[in-house]
Amino acid sequence: SQLPSRKVSDKSQQILERNSRFIPGGMASVNRRTSQTLAFARGAGAYLWDVDGNRYVDYHAGFAPYILGHNDPDQQAAVNQSFADQLSNFGSGPTEQEGELAELFLQCVPTAERVQFLNSGSEATAQAIRVSRAATGREHVILIQGSYNGNQNVVAANLMDSVEMLGGRQAAGGEYPLNPITAGIPKGEAALLHPVEFNDLEAVENIARRYEIAALITEPVLQNIGIVKPDPGYHAGLRRLADHYGFKLIFDEVKTGFRAALGGYQAVCGVTPDLSTFGKAIANGFPIAALAGKTELMELAMSSDATRRVLIAGTYNAHPVTVSATLACLRKLADPELDVYGYLDRLSERLTDGLAECFDRHGLTATVVRQGSAHSFYFLPEPPRNWWEIISGHNFALDAKLRSLLIERGVYYFPTPTKQGSISFAHTAEDIEFTLQMMDDAIGSLNNA
Ligand code: PMP
Repeated sequence: SQLPSRKVSDKSQQILERNSRFIPGGMASVNRRTSQTLAFARGAGAYLWDVDGNRYVDYHAGFAPYILGHNDPDQQAAVNQSFADQLSNFGSGPTEQEGELAELFLQCVPTAERVQFLNSGSEATAQAIRVSRAATGREHVILIQGSYNGNQNVVAANLMDSVEMLGGRQAAGGEYPLNPITAGIPKGEAALLHPVEFNDLEAVENIARRYEIAALITEPVLQNIGIVKPDPGYHAGLRRLADHYGFKLIFDEVKTGFRAALGGYQAVCGVTPDLSTFGKAIANGFPIAALAGKTELMELAMSSDATRRVLIAGTYNAHPVTVSATLACLRKLADPELDVYGYLDRLSERLTDGLAECFDRHGLTATVVRQGSAHSFYFLPEPPRNWWEIISGHNFALDAKLRSLLIERGVYYFPTPTKQGSISFAHTAEDIEFTLQMMDDAIGSLNNA
């Protein structure tokens, strides 16, 4: 097959270096740093173009928000209309649109009873923990190893870096030593956080017996270390333990929400959390997040008891332009005639089946895992059940090498090992076939090297 031609200059590197004179690290999120700096100039549908004009079929989707595709025309029209209608960030009272969005959100996610809109996933998860603490009068929190739940102190203490940092594997039922992913967390706050392994109910129970637990927060499917699925019955087990020991169960659906299904992973697994957080795909790339859950918890924002009242506030919460874009996105996702989820499922299945065949054909031991329109691959014989199985068994060097070879061939998976791929409604069957050809060619070039 014909490989796409590619222009390579040092333009991306120059941009990074110039930015670094003003911005530490040269860009606004350190999670975007990779060994392979590419600066992007534009995006449309399933494609991204870098500053040298090279086109990529995009599976990174900006860390997963783009479920409709880049620069969705209906969202563009909605945003333009919001300016034509002179919607401004009034910040002065309720708007009709935020109510409309909340009603539509709760129709999409019927397991939630109330919703509040915030600006980022990190705000939503921090708020979820705060609400749980206010409701229970307790302070300890159980975190799940390998679940990323945002940048705030209350969750930025799970362990994702290396076997060395972990100091070896804990026995089942054990608690891991705390290993904050940022400096600057007060010791007293860190002492309230208890990381355990995913799919280890015994560990949750042991900690719930020892401490006054306010909440357990987890991504229902771990999607920041590829895709790690729950064992059958795991979430039902968490629900049972939460009810028995009186802590709140928080599903961080920032990645699974509106991607695993319209109703989030809670609709897939049939277990209803007390609170859940949404972001990313809810708005196809616009900065909004949601905290949703049971009325009695959500209404703590309005409690007449000042010792239990939880502050929900933010200048830009439910910004009218973002709300317009989010309404346009949810209307499309919820449209039965478009059947977005059916399309995404079929296309994702074709890609993951094709990837598995391709690895097989080349004699690579690999597992391809899919959850809705998200997928990932590991060089492991079985799908991993937790972070330890990945960090101790996956071939990170081969993963990184393949991603880099794919980028040279016009297919963009984020060049950090294990990062998930996301398919959008704008991807076509031709994009998938092209991707599979390029994967075949990339692995072939590995073998010939
Ligand atoms: N939770 C999960 C599951 C996430 O994947 C992320 C972001 N990758 C966050 C929370 C934090 O969201 P944000 O970056 O919008 O603050």
